[in-house]
Amino acid sequence: LNTKPVCVIDLRSQISPFLSLSRCLLLCEAELQQRSPPSLISLAGGAPNPNTFPFQSASIKVKNGETITFDETVMKRALQYSSSNGIPELLTWMKNLQKNLHNPPTASYSPEKGQMDMCVTTGSQEALCKVFEMLVNPGDNVLLDAPTYSGTLAALQPLGCNLINVPSDQHGMIPAALKEVLSRWDPSEVLKPGSTAPKILYTIPNGGNPTGASMTTERKKAVYELARQYDMLIIEDDPYYFLQFEKPWAATFLSMDVDGRIIRTDSFSKILSSGLRMGFVTGPKPLVDRVVLHIQASTMHTSTFTQVSTKHSHIYLCAFQRHTAFYRKQRDAMISSADKWLKDVAEWHAPSAGMFLWIKLKGIADTQQLIMEKALEKEVLLVPGGVFMINSSDPCPYVRAAFSLSTPEQIDELCHEFYLLTTLIMFSLC
Ligand code: PLP
Ligand code: PMP
Repeated sequence: LNTKPVCVIDLRSQISPFLSLSRCLLLCEAELQQRSPPSLISLAGGAPNPNTFPFQSASIKVKNGETITFDETVMKRALQYSSSNGIPELLTWMKNLQKNLHNPPTASYSPEKGQMDMCVTTGSQEALCKVFEMLVNPGDNVLLDAPTYSGTLAALQPLGCNLINVPSDQHGMIPAALKEVLSRWDPSEVLKPGSTAPKILYTIPNGGNPTGASMTTERKKAVYELARQYDMLIIEDDPYYFLQFEKPWAATFLSMDVDGRIIRTDSFSKILSSGLRMGFVTGPKPLVDRVVLHIQASTMHTSTFTQVSTKHSHIYLCAFQRHTAFYRKQRDAMISSADKWLKDVAEWHAPSAGMFLWIKLKGIADTQQLIMEKALEKEVLLVPGGVFMINSSDPCPYVRAAFSLSTPEQIDELCHEFYLLTTLIMFSLC
């Protein structure tokens, strides 16, 4: 099969080195069928016979009127096991996409860190979870700008690490604040055994969930410089990259990665479909290899059917400008209703990407009870900010409003109801 033995890299990983063996076995299962000449009689592959599968062909109608048809041959492949890193043609397309969008300076990655590589993941959530499990050990210090995505907290917290908040504002993580946090460690000591200096920093660079914050190019450059100084990896979780409303788009961390210290997670959830579960990881090859080993031991690979569908529909991804226009209109509707109803009781920053408005209520110390009891009663659905905090029981005066699903009329109605509710509560507190 020309499958080279996999070198096991001694990372701070909990993943069993036996995965190197399982990789070879699974590759056999998945690929023997496809790589063997049809005349070859083989009893080696452990894949089931696709002739026994009930689904014969499929056709998917695209909104532009076209139809994608999977004939019997495509269907057999779409229903069979496939490589853990992704089907080759999709990977090639993604690598070109990544190069065109970010032009990462891979040539200057040092040999010991390896070249850039990519793999397909079942949404970016899988990628994040596996990246954290690969890199984080109990007791490690991990940097992030909280409030942050609750899925990230859910993946990190069971690892027993110490989450350190780096203060942020509407432009994301504040470099001076990061410098201050890092000042408790000596940069010349960080690689010494026993150092407690953080080795990873996680951030959502565009349309942050829940804050809506987007980081400027200057801030990213400053954060990258600090990461170099302290030899940290940066996890750039960017599912709202394609939902940026203002041009020009800020440069990504990946585009400035001269060292190979960026692990970037991308997602098709917001532009192609969230239920298909498609994402991809980009980063230094030794690290991406380890994520692939973990995929082999868990899901084996992202659904081949999903990948084949994505491969056929990636041409429609070019229509993402339409999505951006839609979400921009939704953001404008959200802001105009918030301006109309909530000015006296709350404050916020208009997001320049994504689908969230982070609203700070004046005079209410914690929104948990307001949202979970009073607002639910009135069918006003918002998320209390505590969900996104490192310590979810700390009082939090914020709520997250997602403007992705409701019509402008519904958004306006909800803002009105929410205004009535908050004034009532503030009045009763007085
Ligand atoms: N990262 C962030 C910041 C998110 O907001 C989300 C989804 O809401 C994800 C990752 C997970 O996305 P996916 O559907 O690609 O797993
Ligand atoms: N357990 C055993 C014994 C298997 O042989 C296989 C697949 N060959 C699996 C689990 C994994 O199956 P699945 O494709 O459902 O993940």
